[in-house]
Formats: sequence, structure tokens, C-alpha cells
Amino acid sequence: MSVTFQDSEILAAWDDIFSKDKYRINIACIADNYPQKKSLMVDYADINTYSVDFAMYVLDNPDACLASARKSAMSLVPSMNRPGEAINVRIVNLPRDAKVEIRNLRADHLRKLVAVEGLARKVTTVKPRMTHALFRCARCGAEMWVLQPGMLLKEPMMCSNPEGGCNKQATRFNLDEKASVYIDTQKIEIQESPEGLRGGAQPERITGYVEDDIAGEVTAGNRITLNGILRSVEKTERDKSTVFETYLDVISVEFEQHEYDEIQITADDEKEILRMSKDPDLYDNIVKSISPSIYGLDSVKRAIALQLFGGCHKEMDDGTVMRGDMHILLIGDPGVAKSQLLRYMSMLAPRGIYASGKSASAAGLTAAAVRDDFGDGRWTLEAGALVLADKGLACIDELDKMTDQDRSSLHEAMESQRISVAKAGITATLQCRCSMLAAANPKYGRFEEDTSIADQIDLPPALMSRFDLIFVLTDKPDKKKDTAITEHILAAHQRGQVRMMHDGETVEGVDVKEVLERTANIRPVYDVEILRKYVAYSKRITPVMTDDAKRIIEDSFLRIRSMGGGNTVPITARQLEAFVRLSEASAKMRLSPVVTDLDANRAVDLVEEYLRRIAGSDDGGFDIDKIATGISSKDRNKIDIIRGVMREYGGDGLSSDELMQHGANEGLDETEVARALKQLSDAGEIYKTPAGIYKRT
Ligand code: ADP
Ligand code: MG
Repeated sequence: MSVTFQDSEILAAWDDIFSKDKYRINIACIADNYPQKKSLMVDYADINTYSVDFAMYVLDNPDACLASARKSAMSLVPSMNRPGEAINVRIVNLPRDAKVEIRNLRADHLRKLVAVEGLARKVTTVKPRMTHALFRCARCGAEMWVLQPGMLLKEPMMCSNPEGGCNKQATRFNLDEKASVYIDTQKIEIQESPEGLRGGAQPERITGYVEDDIAGEVTAGNRITLNGILRSVEKTERDKSTVFETYLDVISVEFEQHEYDEIQITADDEKEILRMSKDPDLYDNIVKSISPSIYGLDSVKRAIALQLFGGCHKEMDDGTVMRGDMHILLIGDPGVAKSQLLRYMSMLAPRGIYASGKSASAAGLTAAAVRDDFGDGRWTLEAGALVLADKGLACIDELDKMTDQDRSSLHEAMESQRISVAKAGITATLQCRCSMLAAANPKYGRFEEDTSIADQIDLPPALMSRFDLIFVLTDKPDKKKDTAITEHILAAHQRGQVRMMHDGETVEGVDVKEVLERTANIRPVYDVEILRKYVAYSKRITPVMTDDAKRIIEDSFLRIRSMGGGNTVPITARQLEAFVRLSEASAKMRLSPVVTDLDANRAVDLVEEYLRRIAGSDDGGFDIDKIATGISSKDRNKIDIIRGVMREYGGDGLSSDELMQHGANEGLDETEVARALKQLSDAGEIYKTPAGIYKRT
């Protein structure tokens, strides 16, 4: 049974707690600096020290207890007597019992003090709200204070001054807006942190109201704990209903201290982590632990493994910072498991977020100032995927389908890891210190054989150059590979089916044990739990490059650079930074304090492989200009020619024959023209009328 407390006992409890030096000094400080300082922070541990029973009682009856605490604190400051003057008592460090996941908030929690953790997804601008209105009687001039608890202004019913000469009959009052009392208010929506979610569940959200001196402290993307009282409001004003919407009446906000705090590493874990780090097969094992149900994609998985660890964030003597986070782009034919890989990584990576480029939210991938129902008419700052993935991994699928707004703000986000929003009185800079793993489809849906790859990527060149590594994944029929993938996918399904059976269950025609053994390679070498801990642990290390490693990177960079042969720039300093980040990640993966030749070679292998694939020119050299500028110098491609023909002569449409003729003038044969026409139709740039005439859309 929980103990109950009488009003006098509650007051006595606070008097006792506030008599401690710590609180006496703080209250005196508030008295001296009011209203610049008006909140008294109370550590829950101190209430608990006073009495465990009382501390429990406070959680269950916060309204009465907090009112009493305010009274107790203010009794120590005699000069506070103007309407609206009060000390805010803000309890922090609530115990674990008071922590509730948003999805677990229930009717039981109503009017109780709870601590809710999450990501601030939306925050409104700070607006003042009138709490105490000063009215003057229009006839006798008497002053009246009216408490304003709700949204609509409440006026006095009649003049309250018996000696005013209006005989208390007056019903007209003038509001003194200037002398009335206001407090700042802000509305915040938080959603569950990704690490708390299991199996791709949608994050739940709750709204909190923050008032007075703590309004404006939170910005979108912050990871916070809202301590507050759960309250309810009727869903609609008009139809009285019995279903209530809940919200948090926030009494204090706590910001998270350390990024990897949420991952607990025990002494046993540490032993295991150190043991893993000594394994010569560590790199392979980690690669094998990345989405093992996906066959192949080895170099992609190697790169992603390094991305998990990331390079080092550095600050220079002059204050410039260099990002350590790596960005990887996968461009590939449909059905090559891009989405599946992204989903897996958003689950595996600490603070992983999965989002699609064509997401429905106004904030999109970055952030936006919006004016919607949430703000009740005021502007709201809404965080997008990259901000929510701050200090984590943002897995962005269908990047090519992103909105124009994202297209223009993504460069800044990826390079300086900040997003600035300046609109309608909101000026904010949001942090998005995340790595990005993105996927996109080729321009015409599928890679075409005889056109250069760089020409088939429909992303702004400036954006492309922000990626450390770009992988091209084609899906061409290939007997050997097809057989292997087929085997692998079927084996994965078989293993999955067997795993769903009960222990000891048998079935005719299948050797359950044999299936499990044969498909053991589909089980990750390290399970997700320990791998996350390992990654979190590695963040403690900032490795330093050896001269050997430096030389290897330098040689490779200069060698590739010289392949351009004067006319083209095969590689830029951006790729040099990619080398560095990759090699640092490799060292961090080994928990090594130094970046050695081994790490440098791993980096060089990955970058050279990617360049060969994407920027490889016919003569064996590299031509990064294809990516960096979007237009390759050599082959102005066939699609462009036909597009140009359509633009120039296609005003009223062109028949197939006319197009063939124009194509021939430009040196294209009939199949090339036909192919280009098909690609342009697929892309929706042109269409064919029933009469067989091609027109531009
Ligand atoms: P994408 O996003 O590239 O279009 P998806 O991730 O949607 O492709 O993959 C389509 C399906 O094909 C998935 O169910 C996936 O399991 C399967 N698949 C494709 N390639 C592989 C592979 N290499 N190994 C295992 N499964 C694969
Ligand atoms: Mg996909």
C-alpha cells in the first residue's frame, strides 16, 4: 500500500528539503535575480533521501505536491506578490520507474509524473501566452486581475470594486495588455528514438507543452527527456466524446549527455569486444554479419562495414572542422536488394533511420518550417530524416526521387553536417552529424548496356561528389551468379521455415538438422547486439596515421590523378579525404590507435574499385569528370541527340521515319534511335500517339 500525505505533511516535507544548503542558496539566488532566474531545479534523489514514501507520493500526485513545493519555495522569498510572480519548481532525474515509453503510456499514467524519452521531431516558435490579464473598469477605473487558464480571453463579469462609484454595475472593461502578465510557451512533438524500436515498427509520438523560462531551449532533432504530467483533452470541441487525446504538461527538460550512453557496455562485454578485436578474421566476420541473407555484394558490404565505424571528426588549430562521417551511394537496377540492405543497416547501426526520398512529410530529408495544425497557426520547425539521424546512420532509399527542396539543401547537410532554416521568423541551425547510406535507381529505370554509367545517373553532380564511395549494381543475367543467388535466396527461405518450427518437431522429407547446418552461413557471425556494442566501443578511439599509411594513400592518389592525361581530372581532393576516412575507419574497427599500411591498403582497394567501375574510361584510365560535371567529354550520348532532335523539330510531333532520318544525319543507326526513343518514353519525356507520332510531354 502506498502511503498518503496530508497537505500539511507535504508542505513540511518541502520545507525540510528546501532547508538544505543547496536549495537555500539556489532560492536566494532566484530572489536576487528574479525574473531572469525563476526556476528551482530539484533533484529527485534529494526527495528520495528525505523519504522514499514521499518521493513515490510525488510521482503519483504531482499537481498537489508541486503546488505545495512552489508555496514552500516562495515563502522564502517574501517580495513576490505581483500576480503571476512565482518560482517554478522543476524536478529532474526521475527514477527508472517513472520512465515510460511513448507507446506504453496508458490511462493509468494520467495525472502522474512521467519521464518520456525521445527525439524532438517538431517544435513551434515560442509565443507568449497571457496568464494574468489586467482589466480596468471603464466607469470607475478600478483594476482587476483575471487569471487566464485557457485559450480564450476571460473578462471580469462585473466590476469588483464596491467603492469605485460604479456601484459594481459596470460591465465594460479595458484590457491593459502592457501590464498583463505573459509567459512563453512552446509546443514540442517527440517521437520514440530509433534504437528503442524493434523490427521496423513506426515510431509513436506525443505532444508536450513547455512553458516559461524553459520554452525555446529545445530545437528539432534534439534527443531529450520530457519530465511532465500526463493530461488529457477531449478530441474534438464540438462532439463531446469519451475518447481523450493525451499530452504532456512538461515540468522539466533534460538533454542527453553522451551519444552512446544508451548502449550499455558491461565488463563482460568489454572482454568480449577486446577478444573480437584480436581476431585476424574480424573484418571478414563483420562483413559476414551484415545482412547475411543477401548474397554477394561483397565490396558494398565491406564499405558499409567501414562506414559503421566511420572516420575521425577533427578540429584544426583555426577552428575548422573536418567531418569523419562517410557517405555511400548505391545506384542499381531494381531488385538487387538495395532496399533490403538499407533496412538492415538502419536496424543494425546505432541510431539508424530509414527514410525514402519521396517521403510524405513536409520536412523531407532535411528540415522545414511549416504552418500546419500542430502549431495552431504558428510556425513549426520540423526535423527530417537526416536531422533525426544525428550522430547515427541515415539510410535514404530512392534518393533520386527526392523533392527539389531537398535537392538544394542536401549539399550543405552532407558537407557541413548542418541544415539552416530561415523562414517566417524561424531561424535555426539543425545538426545532422550523420553518415548517409543512400540508394538510387538509374535514370531510365535500368542500366543500359552501351551507354556510359555516369550518363545514366540522374543526380546533381555536386551532390554526387559528396559521396565517399559510389557503387554501381547491375543485374545482368549471368548463369553462375544467378545460380548462386537463387540457391542463397531459397536456402534463406528454407532456413527461415525451419526456424519457425517448434523445438524437436520433425517433418517428413526434410532433415531439419541438416538444413540448419547447411545454411549456417546465413546466420551473422556476430549478432546484432554485440556488434552494436562493438561499434559504440570503437568511438573511444581516434587513430593516428603512420607515415607508411600516408605514403600508400599519397601514391595511389597521385597515380590515379596522373591517369587523366592532362585533359580530364580523374580524381579530386574530395576523394583524398575519402581515402583518409576509410583508412581511419579500418583502424577503428581493429580498435587500433594507429592507421597502418593495412588500413591504407583497404581504403585504396575500395576507392580504386569504385573509380574503375564508375569513372573507368575505355583506355583503362579514370575520368571523374563524368561524375563531377555530369557530362562526359567523349561520348555525347544518343539519348541527348534524340532529345535534341525532338526539341528542335518535334514541335508538332515526329513520325518514326522522320526520327530515323534525323538520327542518321547525326550518325545513329536505326536500333540506336529506337533504343533512345524507348528510353525517353520510359522516362516520360516523350510519348507515342495512337497514330505513331512521337511528341514531347
Ligand atoms: P531494390 O531496392 O534494389 O530494388 P529490393 O531490396 O527490394 O531491391 O530486393 C528485392 C528482392 O530481391 C528482395 O526480397 C531480396 O531479398 C531479393 N534479392 C535481390 N538480390 C539479392 C541477393 N543478392 N541476395 C539475396 N536476395 C536478393
Ligand atoms: Mg528499392
